[in-house]
Amino acid sequence: MTRAQTSRLTQGLKTLRLATIRKSYREQSELARQETLSYEAFLLELVERECETRTHNRIERLLRESRLPLEKSLDTFDRKRLPAKVGGLVSTLLEGDFLDRSENVLAFGNPGSGKTHLLCAIGQHLIQQGRRVLFTPCNLLVQQLLLAKRELDLPRLLKRWDRCDAIILDDIGYVQHSREEMEVLFALLAYRYERGSIMITSNLPFSKWEQIFKDEMTTAAAIDRLVHHCVILELNLPSYRLEHSKTGRKPKTKAA
Ligand code: ADP
Ligand code: MG
Repeated sequence: MTRAQTSRLTQGLKTLRLATIRKSYREQSELARQETLSYEAFLLELVERECETRTHNRIERLLRESRLPLEKSLDTFDRKRLPAKVGGLVSTLLEGDFLDRSENVLAFGNPGSGKTHLLCAIGQHLIQQGRRVLFTPCNLLVQQLLLAKRELDLPRLLKRWDRCDAIILDDIGYVQHSREEMEVLFALLAYRYERGSIMITSNLPFSKWEQIFKDEMTTAAAIDRLVHHCVILELNLPSYRLEHSKTGRKPKTKAA
């Protein structure tokens, strides 16, 4: 190729945003010559490399944007600890179809039973499949909603999350909400209903959710929307933290 042709090729690949092909085509052409690849096989090689890096970069970006604590993954989670029924449900959730049906996931259990870790691990796995997930402690999210409401921006904020396949609300009911806080939380649940999945961890069983939503009617309405399409994970387990501090052993992980 002449220098002018090389420059036009580079420019064209830039315009088309084919960065990986731009960086690798020389080396790949050399290889193709050595291996006497057909034109088609050479093109396939380039296109596949471009696709691979794009997928990789997209997943990296989704992981970053998810705000998930990435150390809480399936690799570091001992699934054998889960009750058999929950184990089966988790395997199904990992396939991700529940997101297409906007189903919710509710993880109940006492502190330390692994609710947060489990939902984060599921979330991270779903991102690996190209899904968009957002993790947030519930109280932070409530503050964000309140702020948006005061700035008359609540509808736009809710709409922005339409692109999330799942929102993980960690520790609903952990702090006592004021009435205004409860109202924006309810607005979120009502908005997401049949629109997108919510995954919730809670130390409080439904019977105590009036502490969160203040009055009987709102509590019933919130629970009704959440459970209409949902999977419930009951982690009636002793605290992982307590168990592993009592024995003085380091937590067992698959990675270790
Ligand atoms: P919860 O949200 O139910 O209070 P966490 O998910 O925060 O509990 O778990 C408490 C701690 O124990 C975390 O450090 C978590 O990583 C660990 N943990 C809990 N369950 C498991 C498990 N099955 N395998 C590995 N680590 C676990
Ligand atoms: Mg937790």
